[in-house]
Amino acid sequence: MKQFLPADLPRPELVPDKPYAAGLSVAEIKDRYGLDRIIKLASNENPLGLSERTRQAIAAAAANSFRYPRSGNPELKRALSQRYQLPEENLVIGNGSDEIIDLLLRLKGRPGQSNVLAFRPCFSVYGLQSRVCGLEFRQVDLAADFKFPWKDFVAAMDENTCLAFVTTPDNPSGYCPSANELAALALDLPPGCLLVIDEAYMDFARPYDQHQMLSRQPDLPNVAVMRTFSKSYGLAGLRLGFASLPPELARAFWSIRLPFSVNVLAEQAGLTALDDHEFLAQTLETVWTGRDYLSRELADLGFEVWPSQANFIMVRPPAKGPRAVEMFELLLRRGLIVRHLKSFGLEDHLRISIGRPEENKILVQTMAELTA
Ligand SMILES: *Cc1c(COP(=O)(O)O)cnc(C)c1O
Repeated sequence: MKQFLPADLPRPELVPDKPYAAGLSVAEIKDRYGLDRIIKLASNENPLGLSERTRQAIAAAAANSFRYPRSGNPELKRALSQRYQLPEENLVIGNGSDEIIDLLLRLKGRPGQSNVLAFRPCFSVYGLQSRVCGLEFRQVDLAADFKFPWKDFVAAMDENTCLAFVTTPDNPSGYCPSANELAALALDLPPGCLLVIDEAYMDFARPYDQHQMLSRQPDLPNVAVMRTFSKSYGLAGLRLGFASLPPELARAFWSIRLPFSVNVLAEQAGLTALDDHEFLAQTLETVWTGRDYLSRELADLGFEVWPSQANFIMVRPPAKGPRAVEMFELLLRRGLIVRHLKSFGLEDHLRISIGRPEENKILVQTMAELTA
């Protein structure tokens, strides 16, 4: 007897229990609450938006959209190599860091055999994509103060651990370990395990040189360092990320990446953004000033505020007054979108992206009303 299965069923092991939870979009909130002004401080996007210079570069590149991009993004690779003083043979580029995460999992992981390690809580894409790739996903709890318990992390690795992800500065806490700690961790890995350092927020860390690992990657044969254009460069919607990998792995990456996954607009935008030092400097100044301001003001209102090296802060509302989830809802009704960290397993916590000065001020005023 032939058995027929419904043709629309996906492979069951590919369907996550908890899919990626994106922040609500501005349009969704406007519709739902009939608001005309929305302040979105939920997805760690650039508070200054898109640089005018980069906007013009995108507009100019639009005429070329009927062409395929050049495979391998040679122009952008060369520019990245010059900007960050990294060998071209180490550099890879992807459709956001998300694509690089996915391809590293596919390159290194053996389905049904390898495991992947990260902290808990962490950026959900590591776990979601491990599952799609048929890899066991292991997590080690962060310390109570959200610092990294390195000993426990190393203890959770074995000969089948193919990748270990560390986010620094960390999402959602903003914690950032020193570069020396990471260099020491690299010496403690089992053979064959690649340490993937996700530096999506590193531009916002101070002092930069004591924290960043990107420039040290070429000296470390078992380390990869990822960066993105989504945050400090203000290009989240165009999807562009890059990484410095051991050269063998970089070659393999280019051989399996879909040839045109980075489109012509993203490539031109990236080239211009890399050269737009003024916009980056303005972005950093805005984030640093806003981070100090929000941390100080919310602490004064009785919030617990974790020290952050990123373009967001993690807070816990004062014990008396609305809980985090209620506060999230109350802010939403007033046109302020922040991130409730329930999807990170942090029911009591909110993550607030640093906005422009006037946005930060409105947030503080609203929080003052909600906690009065
Ligand atoms: C925002 C973020 C990224 C960026 O991802 P893209 O795909 O480049 O937009 C990567 N890692 C972490 C931890 C992030 O929070």
